[in-house]
Amino acid sequence: MSFKNDYLNRVYADVEKRNAGEKEFLQAVYEVLESLEPVVEARPELEKHGVLERLVEPERMIVFRIPWVDDAGKVQVNRGFRVQFNSAIGPYKGGLRLHPSVCASVIKFLGFEQTFKNSLTGLPMGGGKGGSDFDPKGKSDLEIMRFCQSFMTELSKYIGPDTDVPAGDIGVGAREVGYLFGQYKRMKDEFTGVLTGKGLTFGGSLARKQATGYGLLYFTKEMLANLANSDLQDKVVVISGSGNVAIYAAEKAMTYGAKVVAMSDSSGYVYDAEGIDLDLMKQIKEVERARIVEYANRKPGAVFTAGCKGIWTVKCDVALPCATQNEPDEEGAKALVANGVMAVAEGANMPSTPEAIACFQKNGVLFGPAKAANAGGVATSGLEMSQNSMRYSWTFEEVDAKLHQIMIGIFEAALDASKRYGVEGNLVMGANIAGFEKVANAMIAQGVC
Ligand code: NDP
Repeated sequence: MSFKNDYLNRVYADVEKRNAGEKEFLQAVYEVLESLEPVVEARPELEKHGVLERLVEPERMIVFRIPWVDDAGKVQVNRGFRVQFNSAIGPYKGGLRLHPSVCASVIKFLGFEQTFKNSLTGLPMGGGKGGSDFDPKGKSDLEIMRFCQSFMTELSKYIGPDTDVPAGDIGVGAREVGYLFGQYKRMKDEFTGVLTGKGLTFGGSLARKQATGYGLLYFTKEMLANLANSDLQDKVVVISGSGNVAIYAAEKAMTYGAKVVAMSDSSGYVYDAEGIDLDLMKQIKEVERARIVEYANRKPGAVFTAGCKGIWTVKCDVALPCATQNEPDEEGAKALVANGVMAVAEGANMPSTPEAIACFQKNGVLFGPAKAANAGGVATSGLEMSQNSMRYSWTFEEVDAKLHQIMIGIFEAALDASKRYGVEGNLVMGANIAGFEKVANAMIAQGVC
């Protein structure tokens, strides 16, 4: 793999050397650098200021031990991470992920991506990310609480409402944010907006829960309207995942008149030709935290298939990967294309492999990349921070209207950048360039730091 531009080659060679074996991080950096080629060619001052060298190196990375006691009285140890990637345009901001696959590479790829995503929202937020290899599956409520308290005991030394503001991600929902917030408050003796995604009774924002999924659909709607003169009415939609992002993506798709026919979890997917019954899905996934096979057990006509990959063979007009990284690979993308998919928009972070993205683009499928299409969650986290600072709460409708406006703005910024650099409609390049420009300009303005 190499670039036409020498500066990019040198930067990437250093990244490979310093981060050997970190495949998710290297993949994310490569994808961004590839998009920035025309910008680097047009702006030689970027090299003089060492902008890319600084951008690919986290400002700080904290790795720590998380000891906790399970229900049998045995001490368990997990590893905790927080990467504070870039603070050029605001305090570090990004979620916490609890999943056995969490490692330095995953956290760094997410923190790197977050820097551009946060910039795209237009709000003053830098990039960060964190988490642990703790597996919440099968843990009791008390085990989750003890783990979260231990995690925050260490993390609290490095975060603060004007320094670094974590949020939820995979495995971290309202329950976990509540436990983390309670421990922070106890350690610091202060009630501040140090986390977002909080419960509504203690500083959370209305519409935060819905924000990433709803935002994804606001973005998809703009993409269909502007680039295909189309809309979501009567479109058949496939959504991977059945967590926070997937459920509220499904909800908004349905309100736009689309029919969602398939959803998944890490055990497999369900297909329901009549359209997913979202109340039943919420009951199973949000209330009971059960496996998705339960949906097929309870809904006549619905079919469960073990294994996640097969979901991309379900015929649809719009596909929304909302589970995890590297889901549709080239094979999945080819199956979607063969079945006539017209648009793919990413709810999860880096869900499509580079080969899958190339396949979509080659076949004229509209493609909304994660850092633009799923920015609604962090945008609403930014709105939660604003409300916390003001000690005030906006109504659901007020937050939702601001979110909608922000998503339209993100789409327009990505489209505009794609036009300025001669790749009109390529939203991957457009989003990377638009997100990069603001951060790069701020870094140059602030001198060498
Ligand atoms: P949740 O933990 O609520 O849900 C994750 C979903 O993905 C679950 O249904 C999970 O199934 C499924 N899943 C996990 N691993 C796999 C796998 N290997 N194959 C198939 N399915 C899998 O997380 P979120 O909905 O919050 O996050 C989903 C994605 O969206 C992540 O990439 C996250 O980084 C991204 N994102 C989230 C934001 C938010 O506001 N929450 C904001 C922006 C991006 P199971 O229960 O079986 O593990």
